[in-house]
Amino acid sequence: MAEKPIFGNWLSIEKINSLEKYILVTMEEPWKIIEPKITQKPIFLKFNNNMAIDHLKALALSFDPNILKNCSLIGIGGGTSCDTAKFLAWYLRDKFDLNLDLLLIPSIISVDAFLCSSIAVRINSKVKYIGEIHPKEILIDYNLIQSAPPFLNRAGVSDTISIITALGDWRLARDEINEKFNQDVFNRAKKIAKNLMEARTEIKDVTEKGIKALVDGFYNEVVLCEEWGNARPEEGSEHFLAYCLESITHKHYIHGNLIGMNILISLFLQEEYAEFPIEEIKQFFEYIKINITPEKQHISYNNIRKALKKIKKYVISEKLPYSIYNSSKLILNNKKIDEIIKFLKAI
Ligand SMILES: [Zn+2]
Repeated sequence: MAEKPIFGNWLSIEKINSLEKYILVTMEEPWKIIEPKITQKPIFLKFNNNMAIDHLKALALSFDPNILKNCSLIGIGGGTSCDTAKFLAWYLRDKFDLNLDLLLIPSIISVDAFLCSSIAVRINSKVKYIGEIHPKEILIDYNLIQSAPPFLNRAGVSDTISIITALGDWRLARDEINEKFNQDVFNRAKKIAKNLMEARTEIKDVTEKGIKALVDGFYNEVVLCEEWGNARPEEGSEHFLAYCLESITHKHYIHGNLIGMNILISLFLQEEYAEFPIEEIKQFFEYIKINITPEKQHISYNNIRKALKKIKKYVISEKLPYSIYNSSKLILNNKKIDEIIKFLKAI
């Protein structure tokens, strides 16, 4: 079960100042905000941006295990900092039998890494989940989060609201390949998406209520997927197209923005399986000011075209769950791809 986050003002500073010894994994931006406010400095401070497994192992081995006893390990940042801290805690436990107290403090609510027990790393530039770890505490520091650029926090909504297209894929999988289906889990997932849509103004303004709504959305989604046993209620074709595009361009995008664009593509392709009207979701993204257009994300139409040409083979070779991209109803020929590009140009 995911750890329940604790909410408050300047919790990160309060926590750090109460610790005797800690390692901090973070990024330059949150560090600039925290550093002048803390009285207790970390024994090791690491900025990490590289999630390749070899790099992470080398990072873990750069610590002298003898001075890590009774030490806390804090991850402050976005998904990368939280996943790095999770990896280090997991690896050091495995390798040196060190049980460091892991504390996760997201400085932006952009992805669900601070809540997921699974640890994402990159192996041969592909995201792989290699193990699990449970943090001792997850702290949601409103002031720290509000210090980040609002667009990064707003984008976080897409990574939960991907539910809306994941659900269409799930119904399709039920009907076309008789996949296991549960109406109650389905309805609960749909409610999570609706709650987020209701909180649109608070999310746009990144108020405390908006941050709470984003975190609650992530928390409820993570708990639901853990209960169900996989990410079926939350992740579908919108994520798969993102992975496929990244496999072509090898670029990193703001996850929520890319997922937002792909949600609209999936809704367009799912037709009668679309769980929400396209127009409603488009207006929602517009209202909360998420940069989902290809132009704003610097994604060329040529690369989108390449991804759409590749996606049907990609989902099979990567053994991804059944989605609209597996359906024989969808024929992704040049004419269809032209239609998708035309649709995208109009969003
Ligand atoms: Zn995601």
